[in-house]
Amino acid sequence: MSGFAEKPEPVQVPGLVHLHTGKVRDLYRNGDGDLVMVASDRISAYDWVLPTEIPDKGRVLTQLSLWWFDQLTDLVPHHVLSTDVPPGAPADWAGRVTVCRSLDMLPVECVARGYLTGSGLVEYRETRTVCGLALPAGLEDGSELPAPIFTPATKAEVGEHDENVSYEEVARRVGAETATQLRQTTLAVYSRAREVALRRGIVLADTKFEFGLPAGETDPESLVLADEVLTPDSSRFWPADVWQPGRAQPSYDKQFVRDWLTGPESGWDRGAGTPPPPLPQKIVEQTREKYVEAYELLTGTPWG
Ligand code: ATP
Ligand code: MG
Repeated sequence: MSGFAEKPEPVQVPGLVHLHTGKVRDLYRNGDGDLVMVASDRISAYDWVLPTEIPDKGRVLTQLSLWWFDQLTDLVPHHVLSTDVPPGAPADWAGRVTVCRSLDMLPVECVARGYLTGSGLVEYRETRTVCGLALPAGLEDGSELPAPIFTPATKAEVGEHDENVSYEEVARRVGAETATQLRQTTLAVYSRAREVALRRGIVLADTKFEFGLPAGETDPESLVLADEVLTPDSSRFWPADVWQPGRAQPSYDKQFVRDWLTGPESGWDRGAGTPPPPLPQKIVEQTREKYVEAYELLTGTPWG
């Protein structure tokens, strides 16, 4: 079992149709047919949306995505139309709402990896491949790969793991031309972002993008970058100054949460199928700090 520790009730806003409550974002459609994406302060770990929120997380994710979209416009168009709070919506949506072009999303989580860790490391240890791509021997947890690789996954429902798939499987699902375009764009955007991050002292180990096509469009050249981009929720960011292959790297994300949940203090049994308990205030604050720190380092702008 997994999912929401407490399923949130969607906020009802006159003029907006509620479409979906994701793990982190709430989606609505406005009167123009555009998508209204509201990032909440919810946090997920081990396939559970936790019962405790991280203050400012929704605004940090939104502002960081907007900053990145701006850095990438010469490489790929993005889905953002405006950040205006829709009339009648709660004032606290300010800073965490994005009005976007509604796209036909491609059913592929477009992951780029420049370093080996996580599910990539697990597969590598078994077969010396990642998503079926052969890699040199001798790589360790945190090793830089000879070149960035495209390691797509299929999107899972809430509570399920995303599943790594081969490039051939992506081509079967979306067509060969679109698959080629997804791979090329994913790697181009990753490479740019990695350079930008490294200049700020952050290793972008891997990241996930989602792309869509405007309704009725089939030309793969018309890909639009959607969802959130290059946030601590969709990426692994490591401090470059202490990066050292051969061990787990410290990272700018949910590490405090994961460590606490699986540590002795939480009393939570990950395998038991019961929802995780609320987080202590200290863990909430440390986690908020990490998100804010990632924002400040990457953008070079003080938070709030
Ligand atoms: P998780 O990302 O934690 O697995 P989730 O994907 O269900 O959960 P969110 O990421 O919170 O939930 O919600 C964002 C949803 O909006 C995703 O399903 C994403 O594919 C979709 N989406 C993002 N941008 C667009 C867009 N421009 N048009 C249509 N759908 C979009
Ligand atoms: Mg998502």
